[in-house]
Amino acid sequence: MSIAIDPEILARIDALPSKAKDELYRRIQAQSSANHQVWYCRKGRSCDGYPHEGVPYPHAQDYQWPPPGISWDIWFMMCGRGTGKTRTGSNYLRRVKEKVPRIAMVGRRGPDVRQIMVEGPSGLIRACELAGETYDWKPALREFTFANGAKVFGYSAEEPNSLRGPEHGAAWLDEPCHMDYIDDVWDNLQLGLRVAGLPGGAKVLLTSSPLPNKWTKERIKDARTVLVRVPTSRNEHNLDESYRRRVIDPLRGTRKGRQELEAQLLDDVVGALWKESLLKREVFTVEELGRRVVAIDPAGSTAKRSDETGIISAGKLGAERYGVLRDLSGKFSPNGWATAAINEYERINADAIVVERNFGADMVRDNVRNAGFTGRIIEVRASHGKEVRAEPIVGLYEQEKVVHQEGADLADLEDEQMTWVPGKGASPNRVDALVWAITELHGGGTGDVAAGIPRGSLRPGGPGATRKLPFGRRGRAV
Ligand SMILES: [Zn+2]
Repeated sequence: MSIAIDPEILARIDALPSKAKDELYRRIQAQSSANHQVWYCRKGRSCDGYPHEGVPYPHAQDYQWPPPGISWDIWFMMCGRGTGKTRTGSNYLRRVKEKVPRIAMVGRRGPDVRQIMVEGPSGLIRACELAGETYDWKPALREFTFANGAKVFGYSAEEPNSLRGPEHGAAWLDEPCHMDYIDDVWDNLQLGLRVAGLPGGAKVLLTSSPLPNKWTKERIKDARTVLVRVPTSRNEHNLDESYRRRVIDPLRGTRKGRQELEAQLLDDVVGALWKESLLKREVFTVEELGRRVVAIDPAGSTAKRSDETGIISAGKLGAERYGVLRDLSGKFSPNGWATAAINEYERINADAIVVERNFGADMVRDNVRNAGFTGRIIEVRASHGKEVRAEPIVGLYEQEKVVHQEGADLADLEDEQMTWVPGKGASPNRVDALVWAITELHGGGTGDVAAGIPRGSLRPGGPGATRKLPFGRRGRAV
């Protein structure tokens, strides 16, 4: 398309120095109406980020939204390769700039600030261009100014002292787990985080692939942190073929891949029951399994993260071994978790759903029944503490009698296994469901029952076994 422009204006543009000309073109392009893309769409956090009506291009999916509410200080996006962390960061700053006049942006090294966070293919400049917003960027000063005047100041983590003094109301740190002087960077940044603006106080976004060092673990443990772990698989549909072939594929199935793709912290946590080395993967199919069960540990206790319901499926792999199939745990409504468990029960042709009879009498069993389930329910009673229940199962792992299905997304479960320290932190719903599933498969068979397992409550026909109820599958609750 050509537009008629006054020749005099054209001549004047032509006479501009090339740098000014570039800037002019950039601004014209940024403001053209074809380039007014939104990042956060109207569907909100429930959107999967795929193009849809009104937003015909990829945009933010749930994990790329800042955490809901204002009662957090740190949004820790611990991510695998290719999960769009830079784009998440750039767009978060675009959002924050509406309320905060001074923002800090810290890169691992000086060139990273410029080449990745600002001028990179998903950096601040690109984010502004896509949104049709103007900006000003002074690379020598590492100073980025949004159209509304809000400024982002770039810092290199190699110069932690440069963060001493300046004040900010928000910050974005890219790859903090890999910064050499992160402790100093962090301390200095905290001192200056006192510019008002964001409701609930200054906020920090951390985007990083994981590295199990002290600082990382402290951030995860911090009650003010919202940890969002993002495996590469969450964004694979947006990755181009060659990136997948060059970067992603070689890491698949490797230990490094668990860190780089599945965003797991790999080293052993002191006091955790499971060591990383105990978690073995193996290729097997559902059909190769003997007896199969789905175990549920419902949300509901008052502990942190207790809004997750643990749902784990597993089966017998030969006489004395057990294979963990899937982890379907998540945040559900009561009907939601019951339905998820029932679907898995049908998918793997299981012979029972194992539920914990802990609080509120028969709540869990009744809820599964109310969702239309007429199969076998085994109720287990939590007469011992979580640790006592888990120990014999850890023993089975030590004997290499429990393996995880190769290729299944069990990263969250494995993370919980490796980081849960009995008596501390969040209630481990995934681990609990796993323990119930393996306990049932182990105790329900003819093999030895390890000490500590409340066997009497597990046996079919024992107090936990259930009777058929007089209504059809998915029928009306009576
Ligand atoms: Zn959307």
